[in-house]
Amino acid sequence: MTEAEPGKHRGILLVISSPSGAGKTTLAHLLAEHEKLEFSVSYTTRAPRAGEREGADYKFVTDEEFARMVDRGEFAEWAVVHGHRYGTAVHTVNRALEDGKDYLFDIDYQGGAQIRRQWPDESVLVFILPPSMAELERRLRRRATDAPEAIDKRLAMATRELEHFGEYDYLVVNDNLETALKELTSICVAARCARSRRSHYGHSLLTEARQREPSGRPPSSQ
Ligand code: ADP
Ligand code: 5GP
Repeated sequence: MTEAEPGKHRGILLVISSPSGAGKTTLAHLLAEHEKLEFSVSYTTRAPRAGEREGADYKFVTDEEFARMVDRGEFAEWAVVHGHRYGTAVHTVNRALEDGKDYLFDIDYQGGAQIRRQWPDESVLVFILPPSMAELERRLRRRATDAPEAIDKRLAMATRELEHFGEYDYLVVNDNLETALKELTSICVAARCARSRRSHYGHSLLTEARQREPSGRPPSSQ
């Protein structure tokens, strides 16, 4: 991120990715609540799972609607994941940047790369790793939200997804959920404290300090 103009604050685009089943959705929701982050609700062409709510988990659209949105340039990023299309609306990213709110994006590595390319200074990328591949499989099967063939497909994709961990700023191993959430929270807090995001405080404090100085600078103490 470039040095912020005095008084101007742009939100953080916090991207969380992982192989399916590593716990990214669980962690993303906990983090969003804990750190008061806005959750970016994606568009998808996949069918809702039991318990998923339109507009809260995803905006569920048909292939035709999604294609129309692509044609109209309404996505900041989009990708095909596990045979379905998923995308983040441009207006969601714009809102984060203009309102100065921090947004959380639960998106795959293709989406993460597109966000990083367009907003290298505002984006912070975190990859969630499972403690082992055996545990990843256990979690996917225990979750039981997908058909067995879909689970096999997700497991087969895990290697391809893991190959991209090197493109991320931070790696969090989701073994113990509480520890992983603590690490994610720390990343979020550290990102907010980065000099590039806090420099407007420094600028306004310096202005105030200079105004309070008696005319003529005192000699340096060194
Ligand atoms: P993803 O969004 O990465 O596909 P989910 O958040 O849906 O993964 O998690 C997959 C399954 O693993 C869910 O049933 C979830 O409750 C469980 N889970 C998540 N984190 C942990 C953890 N640290 N230990 C045990 N189970 C977990
Ligand atoms: P699921 O079907 O399990 O909800 O999500 C499957 C994958 O799609 C996950 O890796 C999730 O992070 C990713 N995903 C969800 N929304 C988006 C999005 O808007 N863009 C991209 N690129 N990936 C997404």
